[in-house]
Amino acid sequence: MVEDDPAIRTAVLRALTDLGHAVSSASDALSGLRAAVDSAPDIVVLDLGLPDLDGSEMLRMLRAVSDVPVIVATARDDDPTAVRALNSGADDFLAKPFSAEQLDARIRAVLRRTQAATVPDDLVVGGLVLSTTARTAALDEVALDLTPREFDLLQYLMERPNTVVGKRELLTEVWRLAPSGADKTVDVHVSWLRRKLGETAASPRYLHTVRGVGIKLTAPPSE
Ligand code: CA
Repeated sequence: MVEDDPAIRTAVLRALTDLGHAVSSASDALSGLRAAVDSAPDIVVLDLGLPDLDGSEMLRMLRAVSDVPVIVATARDDDPTAVRALNSGADDFLAKPFSAEQLDARIRAVLRRTQAATVPDDLVVGGLVLSTTARTAALDEVALDLTPREFDLLQYLMERPNTVVGKRELLTEVWRLAPSGADKTVDVHVSWLRRKLGETAASPRYLHTVRGVGIKLTAPPSE
C-alpha cells in the first residue's frame, strides 16, 4: 500500500492484516515504486495524492517495469481522475473514504480477474495432475474422487508448490471465511484430502503439515 496519510495507512494496514492479507506500506511514490519492484507483491493499492510524485505518474513508471495489479485509492472521486488512473494502467479504482471490507472485496475481485488470466489449465506436481478447466484431478494416473472443497484446496496448494500456506490464508482464500483461531475446518479437510491421496500425517508424501504455520504441498522424491 502506498499512502502518505499515516492515520489511513495504519488503519487500512491493520484491517487488511485482520482480513488475512500480508501487507507492507510506503509513504511516498518513489519508495513505493522501489518496494513494488523489489518485493513483487500480488497487488498494489495506490493513493494518488502523494508528497513527491503524483500517484498516476508513479503508476506510469511502475507500468514500464511491472504488470502487478494496481488499485488506485484516492480522495479525488471525480470521473476524469478515475479515467486518467485507469488509462495510466490501474486495474480498478476506489474513492475515499472506503471501508476495509470494500477494499478487500475490490482486491479479491482484481486478483481473481488477473490470476484467472495467468493460471494454466493443468497443474502438475510430481504424480499429481489437476485440470482447472475440467475440474478433475489424478494421482499417478488414477482419477481422484474429490469434493468441490477438496478440489479447491488441492488446486490452491498445487498453485503454490513447496510453499507453506497458512491456515488463515486457506480459510480466507479457499473457504472465503473470516479466520478465527479455533477453526478446525482446514485441519479436517486436509486430513480428508490426505486420505484420498493415500497418505497419512505420520508419513506424508505430498501434504506436509508445518506445525503452527500451515500446510505445504511438495512432490515426493522420485522412487
Ligand atoms: Ca494522499
